[in-house]
Amino acid sequence: MKVNEVTLLGHKDHGKSTLIGNLLITTKSVSEQRINDAKKTSKKLGRKFEPGFILDSFEEERENAMTIDTTRAQILYKGSAFEFIDVPGHEELIKNMISGAANADFAVLMVSAKEDEGIRDQTFRHIFLAGMLGIRRIIVAVNKMDQVKYNQKRFEEIKGIIQKFLVKIGFDSKSMYFVPISAYSAENLAKRSKNMPWYNGQPLLDIMVEESKYEKKAENPDLRVSVQGILRDENLLIGRVLSGKLISGQDIVMLPQNVTYNVSKIFIKGKKAAAGLPTQNIAIELNKKIPVDARGSVICGVENPVKPGNKFKTLIFAVKKPGATATINFNGNSLSCKLHVDEVIDTTTGSKASGALTPLNAAKATIDVSSKIVAEPFKKSEQLGRFVLYDKGEFSGIGVII
Ligand code: GDP
Repeated sequence: MKVNEVTLLGHKDHGKSTLIGNLLITTKSVSEQRINDAKKTSKKLGRKFEPGFILDSFEEERENAMTIDTTRAQILYKGSAFEFIDVPGHEELIKNMISGAANADFAVLMVSAKEDEGIRDQTFRHIFLAGMLGIRRIIVAVNKMDQVKYNQKRFEEIKGIIQKFLVKIGFDSKSMYFVPISAYSAENLAKRSKNMPWYNGQPLLDIMVEESKYEKKAENPDLRVSVQGILRDENLLIGRVLSGKLISGQDIVMLPQNVTYNVSKIFIKGKKAAAGLPTQNIAIELNKKIPVDARGSVICGVENPVKPGNKFKTLIFAVKKPGATATINFNGNSLSCKLHVDEVIDTTTGSKASGALTPLNAAKATIDVSSKIVAEPFKKSEQLGRFVLYDKGEFSGIGVII
């Protein structure tokens, strides 16, 4: 069964964990044991039952396996499977999005309707990032409706502002849903809430099922294999197929070295295979000796290779104020680059801004990399179109090639 990856966006305390907790309970995707544990923890802390505490048990289990601090919870509903990816903080969210969001099928954005919460700068920034990283479909859940007396006007107000922003940054108005919910009292999650008779759309879970029917973006048909290592003694390359199909016996070109080879053998999980397909990790035996600097290279078909280059137009999202020189981490390579900001974009409005690029804003920028890299637009290849920026060893932002 296809598991739909869902990125959960939203400001802290707007109800993300509560939503996942109650979705797990409502859809019976979690054991009684875990629910009881969460009840006990709530009681111990002298709090009302917090469905969000169910997630804590998921966290512990995965603590060591994760490089980024994320929590994943699987939900099954009406024959569809969803994996929610929740991250605790702003910076983690950004890091996680660059590593994972490009694979997410859609996003759910939580905005609390509560008077002192509502839309925040972070709300816009999360949407901006999601859009930048290729998410094209979004469900906006306006939460805590119980705390604003289920007021339709408040819902419409939030919906109006977010809808306008989404359209401004390039989302299609047909690819967005707005649903008023109470994550805490499970209203409009699986069942329509009697407290919001004015809402005539579907409950959140049904919208998710609807979303799961959409195919992801069209895949790049061209062959791209990212070389991750070499086993020199055996003259084998270890790589991952990013797109297209690698067939045993075909001619390929290794870039940026620009050397052609013939593929003598392909192995998948130690067994000989006729071809390698997207997402598969493969070992490749070539007809000639493998270059020592093959790690970080890209294998393409001879008829449609990437043109390696130094200079790229990009869209970057700054986490820290960037310097004029930086290090980029690109497809397993770490290289120094010069960064030239061409236009600053305020990520809370989506508009051009004056002045220098400041943290949590974005920019159209030209990067000049110290040596040639095998990159292409993010729209065509997610893996070969995105990079992470470091400034003096510190994570400072992310970028996509446009
Ligand atoms: P997160 O930081 O986004 O994961 O937010 P949490 O899920 O931890 O929620 C923050 C607080 O808001 C918790 O105390 C929740 O019980 C509360 N909360 C979440 N959703 C609702 C809701 O729909 N109604 C009410 N009244 N409280 C909610």
